[in-house]
Amino acid sequence: MAAEVQPQPLTRKPILLQRVEGSQEVVNMAVLVPKEEGVISVSEDRRDSGQYWPSIYYVMPSPCSCMSFNPETRRLSIGLDNGTISEFILSEDYNKMTPVKNYQAHQSRVTMILFVLELEWVLSTGQDKLFAWHCSESARRLGGYRTSAVASGLQFDVETRHVFIGDQSGQVTILTLEQDTCTLVTAFRGHTGGVTALCWDPVQRVLFSGSSDHSVIMWDIGGRKGTAIELQGHNDKVQALSYAQHTRQLISCGGDGGIVVWNMDVERQETPEWLDSDSCQKCDQPFFWNFKQMWDSKKIGLRQHHCRKCGKAVCGKCSSKRSSIPLMGFEFEVRVCDSCHEAITDEERAPTATFHDSKHNIVHVHFDPTRGWLLTSGTDKVIKLWDMTPVVS
Ligand SMILES: [Zn+2]
Ligand SMILES: [Zn+2]
Repeated sequence: MAAEVQPQPLTRKPILLQRVEGSQEVVNMAVLVPKEEGVISVSEDRRDSGQYWPSIYYVMPSPCSCMSFNPETRRLSIGLDNGTISEFILSEDYNKMTPVKNYQAHQSRVTMILFVLELEWVLSTGQDKLFAWHCSESARRLGGYRTSAVASGLQFDVETRHVFIGDQSGQVTILTLEQDTCTLVTAFRGHTGGVTALCWDPVQRVLFSGSSDHSVIMWDIGGRKGTAIELQGHNDKVQALSYAQHTRQLISCGGDGGIVVWNMDVERQETPEWLDSDSCQKCDQPFFWNFKQMWDSKKIGLRQHHCRKCGKAVCGKCSSKRSSIPLMGFEFEVRVCDSCHEAITDEERAPTATFHDSKHNIVHVHFDPTRGWLLTSGTDKVIKLWDMTPVVS
């Protein structure tokens, strides 16, 4: 009897729909226009454009650093290198952009903008290490807050009026905003590098921070358990994050060209604290600074390592094996002690993320959940459009 042919599992991956080229400079930020075949992008060459479909080119007085687009009102807010935020209304057919007003928001380059329709606020951060918010009706400045470093991540929770600011020192600051005052709620640090992107899930009340230290941390803000789970799936800086709320999937992109889609529906555990010991907690051999035991037992001191699963201090011989531990956020293989290696089941090793190569160094992403499309903008000055429905569903 002929052996039955097993059906091959389908390789599910994003489908490249389009490459948009022609920008003279790196596109700092871009958005997909919902229900339209359009992209709005801003770049250093001062142009703001609606590309690959009836195009608008708009030359700004200063290079464009960031933007925020609100599809309901077709309001486009563009941050400039000179600190100004310029606001436009796009016509219904997206063929025309009409200047509305300017905000003298910062002393230097605007790094992030967020338009909050519900409160008619424009939130922004700048190279001047200032977080500011303005009334979008009157363009009046409502308040400001000095951050510890230049901010590169900005998110807002409408319900509680919490603003999340991630900065280049690695700090995340949470403020509560009133009409014209703000209160510091807390500030925390978890990355060894700067924060490059923030993403807020208002339903699960979870904040994601991406960092130049290659990791993403998921902060449980609303659960009051204070857990922080590290997600290790990149080989280079994480530079952009997006969250698909309906499927509870986090999309992280970075300098390695990777598009990593994380399943956030699984319960992950925090990594253990690393334990301190003067000798291997498995074989009891002394570590190299433990002169007394080295002398007493006439043994050579060993280098200390830590098992990523149990946190024990172990020697190299007792931790020679590697394993991925996806439920602790380690999608790549990490050092584990021999007993943990034996205890990890295949089920625990099942990946909780999928990895895809965008073939460019991604600086910015935008996800349109209605179509399942992802826009990636790279240092190669190219914008790529991806159909993510094979992986984000
Ligand atoms: Zn040992
Ligand atoms: Zn262990």
